[in-house]
Amino acid sequence: MSSFSDFIQDNKALREENRNKKPIHERFIEFHAHDDEQIVLNAVPGHFATIQSHINYYVDVTSMKVRTKEATEAAKYLAAKMLHKVEVVDTIVCMDGTQVLGAYLAEELDKSNIRLSGSHESIRVVCPEVNSVNQLLFRENIKPSIQGRKIFLLLATMSTGETVRQSMECIEYYGGDIVGVSSIFSTRNVVESTSVFPIFTIEDLPGYESYKPSECPFCKKGIPIEAMVNGYGYSKLR
Ligand SMILES: [Zn+2]
Repeated sequence: MSSFSDFIQDNKALREENRNKKPIHERFIEFHAHDDEQIVLNAVPGHFATIQSHINYYVDVTSMKVRTKEATEAAKYLAAKMLHKVEVVDTIVCMDGTQVLGAYLAEELDKSNIRLSGSHESIRVVCPEVNSVNQLLFRENIKPSIQGRKIFLLLATMSTGETVRQSMECIEYYGGDIVGVSSIFSTRNVVESTSVFPIFTIEDLPGYESYKPSECPFCKKGIPIEAMVNGYGYSKLR
């Protein structure tokens, strides 16, 4: 068995190795949606941590969040997936900086003649405030877009589903009725009996794994975490 000083030594060497690695954005591997070549997701293999889990890929969906052309394509793709499965949407609630995609999705759903439950003339797109314990907050002026409305929840990435569950609970607390969830990348097709419409799934990213921190094989080998990851992106650890 190796001694503690060996472990520290190894760890130092591994940290050094991490430091010498090319930056994350230079190691991106492109993955295409299986039935639309134009929709691209980038991912980097490695050792990353989210708030609930450790993962062996950082999945980057930035282009679909910040570029209008990519967001338009992704919105069309998503609207087609939802067709005949979600029939009424009043409000799209956008998490993780997905509001550009959310606005294009609203436009596509309007074109596809999705129904609204009330007499208002168009789909609303809402970005909630999130407090320090990850609860969604809707101010008085936004509450009418949630209460009694059919809500479609849009996210960037989803691995354990824990954050989504929490967001759904908050929306229900404000009186919203969740009719569907989409995550640009998702490991699941259902959360709490609500359908999830992902653009990319783990089938598109073979070998993607998510571990409980206590069971993470990288941690067990003393491999340092390269970056902290959430729906907004990544922050490199030094
Ligand atoms: Zn780990």
